[in-house]
Amino acid sequence: MSDVEGEAGDFRVTLVKKPRYIREDKCTGCTTCVEYCPVKIPDPFNQEISKNKAVHIYFSQAIPLITYIDENCLYLKEKKCKICEAVCKHEAIDFSAKPEKVEINVGAIILSLGFEPYDPRLRDEYKYGKFKNVVTSMDYERILSSTGPYEGEIRRSSDLRHPHKIAWVQCVGSRQVIEGGNSYCSTVCCTYTQKQVILTKDHDPEAECVVFHNDIRSYGKDFERFFQRAEVLPNVRFIRSYVNILKEDPVTNNITIRYSTPDGGVKDEEFEMVVLSVGLCPPKGASLVAEKFGIELNEHRFCKVDSFVPVTTSKKGIFVSGAFSGPIDIPESVFGSSGAATKCGELLNYRRGKLATQRVYPEERDVRGEEPKVGIFVCY
Ligand SMILES: Cc1cc2nc3c(=O)[nH]c(=O)nc-3n(C[C@H](O)[C@H](O)[C@H](O)COP(=O)(O)OP(=O)(O)OC[C@H]3O[C@@H](n4cnc5c(N)ncnc54)[C@H](O)[C@@H]3O)c2cc1C
Ligand code: SF4
Ligand code: SF4
Repeated sequence: MSDVEGEAGDFRVTLVKKPRYIREDKCTGCTTCVEYCPVKIPDPFNQEISKNKAVHIYFSQAIPLITYIDENCLYLKEKKCKICEAVCKHEAIDFSAKPEKVEINVGAIILSLGFEPYDPRLRDEYKYGKFKNVVTSMDYERILSSTGPYEGEIRRSSDLRHPHKIAWVQCVGSRQVIEGGNSYCSTVCCTYTQKQVILTKDHDPEAECVVFHNDIRSYGKDFERFFQRAEVLPNVRFIRSYVNILKEDPVTNNITIRYSTPDGGVKDEEFEMVVLSVGLCPPKGASLVAEKFGIELNEHRFCKVDSFVPVTTSKKGIFVSGAFSGPIDIPESVFGSSGAATKCGELLNYRRGKLATQRVYPEERDVRGEEPKVGIFVCY
């Protein structure tokens, strides 16, 4: 989005459509170009754990399911290569594509910018990026996934071995009134951790899973029962304690965590992998978007909403859905989106039917006596 003008009922929005350098009408998604492209880059969709090519499909459920070329391409950088153009049988590669400005006229706007996961590199004590087998919960989501870097096998990066003893550290970047932390609870991490523990046990029933938490907050209908389900699994422990990610074994790359025990003692315990349950931060572009749309942000830089109608922003005609309004899970994002759409309908009700135009059909004629003709109309 590059610009917005106007008011409720009549906004003019200018969008910038980045070029994908692939002709959508010609690409069949066969991925021959991907096969031949010589440039390998850390795959952003897989949290940069596995590699992808400079021409690739973003992820396996992408719509449309076709490739795009990113800024790592040799031709875009140095005017070299063009192998993809030579191997594509459908002539779908188009390096002449330019960014396209699209202007649209709309009556209402819903902002759904989502969130940015907390970056644990901001605080040294998490050892993310320093200890090889410390990963974030976002990394672990991809590791668990069948379309992930290890095709659904749980492996750790130091030796690609399957870890049997895993620790989760809760409230990473959340509930902390200190520099580099957020004071609010991110609401989803306790529950997604329980999901990750249950899935880990599905992969490997012998796995030992230990969750270090501040207290478990299972927001949402019936999520406390989800916790109760995870809690009773064999070899699963929930320990209420702040932890210190102490050291990495130089030979095994296992990680020692120091924590306090309920009887007031201190214990050191070794794990093969540590997952940091990162919280939800406001999206990166929040301030810029707020300025362009003339909406207010709250003290945490999420969208400021009306307490009684939490899909309403401070500007008439602009609504919000999903995690841009604050940390929420997928079901809440989905029904919030329905709420925002309903508010748009309510606002624009007076315009209903105004854009409808009368369909004009060719005049019918008498075809009796003419040779029969058969039309076949294929939808595409
Ligand atoms: C590790 C982890 C695991 C989770 N697991 C679960 C789970 O199991 N179940 C569950 O219910 N919830 C889970 N959640 C929470 C879930 O991710 C969020 O509830 C959900 O993603 C919110 O959806 P959204 O559409 O609001 O935001 P997002 O999913 O963040 O989507 C926002 C989209 O907007 C795009 N965008 C942002 N700015 C712009 C812009 N200016 N122009 C164009 N596009 C833009 C972004 O690129 C992004 O694609 C998990 C969260 C984490 C961190
Ligand atoms: S031109 Fe770019 S995208 Fe095409 S094969 Fe070469 S590096 Fe890959
Ligand atoms: S949901 Fe759980 S892990 Fe996340 S911030 Fe709140 S208490 Fe901490």
